[in-house]
Amino acid sequence: MGGGAAGFFAAIHAAETGRKVWLLEKSARTLSKVIISGGGRCNVTHDCRSPAALAACYPRGGAFLKPRFKRWGVEETIHWFESRGVPLKTESDGRMFPQSDQSEHIAMALENAARANGVSVRTKHGVAKIEKTAKGFTVHLDNEQVINAARVIVAPGGLPKLSQYAFLELSGHAIVPPLPSIFTFHTGGPALHALSGLSLSEVTLRAEGQKQTFGGPMLITHWGLSGPAVLRCSAWMARELAASGYRFNLYARLLPLSEVEFRDWLELAIREHPKRRCHNQVPHGIPARFWAYLLEGIEISETITLAELGKKHKNRLVETVLNHRFAVEGKSAFKEEFVTAGGFALDDLQPGTMESRHWPGLYFAGEVLDIDGITGGFNFQAAWTTAYFAGTEAAASLL
Ligand SMILES: Cc1cc2nc3c(=O)[nH]c(=O)nc-3n(C[C@H](O)[C@H](O)[C@H](O)COP(=O)(O)OP(=O)(O)OC[C@H]3O[C@@H](n4cnc5c(N)ncnc54)[C@H](O)[C@@H]3O)c2cc1C
Repeated sequence: MGGGAAGFFAAIHAAETGRKVWLLEKSARTLSKVIISGGGRCNVTHDCRSPAALAACYPRGGAFLKPRFKRWGVEETIHWFESRGVPLKTESDGRMFPQSDQSEHIAMALENAARANGVSVRTKHGVAKIEKTAKGFTVHLDNEQVINAARVIVAPGGLPKLSQYAFLELSGHAIVPPLPSIFTFHTGGPALHALSGLSLSEVTLRAEGQKQTFGGPMLITHWGLSGPAVLRCSAWMARELAASGYRFNLYARLLPLSEVEFRDWLELAIREHPKRRCHNQVPHGIPARFWAYLLEGIEISETITLAELGKKHKNRLVETVLNHRFAVEGKSAFKEEFVTAGGFALDDLQPGTMESRHWPGLYFAGEVLDIDGITGGFNFQAAWTTAYFAGTEAAASLL
């Protein structure tokens, strides 16, 4: 069930054993997300070969995936695509793409392997309901057709609404409420938005009331904030931020300095350049226009010199640079890339096989599970890994 990355990968591995496999896709075309992913380049995995380090990139599901990565991890993914004529390349941040920068080549490798192994791909075959029978399963389609199957692999991708899980309502599977992960923050007014395109290289973010912090570059956008630190924060805090209605205070340390280090920097500048205007004393790592925005926010006008900074000004500077408050008032998708956190609960699966504990013979793979990764190729890697197990184990159980 599902003609995406996980559905194809599972179908291929099941069909390689010689079993008859049908791949049922509800829409008119398969692999749509693969095609649009990574800005049309498909960030197929991440160059992170250690199972433990890889598992640490999943806000939900990492502990479940870690032992699975030992059998199907990044190396296996690279080998699978490269041995099918799609060499991969690694970018400086570890993201891996097809050398051609064309997601179609990833889709073609999957389609060719499915065809070569005799998978029957059926588009416009939406699954409405799955029922357990004495011999296996009855799959009811949207068009009222019925298919009997000895085994079923469930891979319909992230389902954002609880009602979309009804196709398995008789199975007793628990559903962890779905909600979005990987998004950007709406904050600030016209003065901040006018700085769209500027970035800070090393910020540390923390949502109010939370202990966890998230470091990395941050980008100012037309609507607020984006960039790796923001995306990480949104993924790891997906549940907490949803509970706040996406309205919360975000505190940012804008420079990688302690208060003592920042005050030392300021005092040195005052001693060395007393007549210099504060607006011209830009700390390394903060763009000049953003520095001016910060100073205006604490009423240090363009004419004030370093020597004229009083104690109050200095304290405000420390606060605005090391504990800057952004009032977040909403969210939006990052380059249309979003992932569903939540889904079918992992406790209901046999971890070694991806088989249901409730309905033996029913398997799960991909984003429909309560597994999601941060941005960087981790979500596809979870799809390849879970689908490899679901496909091989579903077929092996028939031997
Ligand atoms: C714009 C965008 C860009 C992304 N880029 C990246 C990236 O570069 N790297 C990365 O790692 N991740 C990326 N992701 C996330 C990644 O695409 C998903 O995690 C991944 O596609 C999940 O694979 P899947 O097979 O589980 O689900 P999907 O790819 O969503 O496939 C599920 C398929 O099942 C079908 N289906 C649904 N319901 C039914 C039904 N009832 N009956 C039959 N078929 C059904 C759907 O139509 C769909 O074709 C991106 C996501 C988006 C939205």
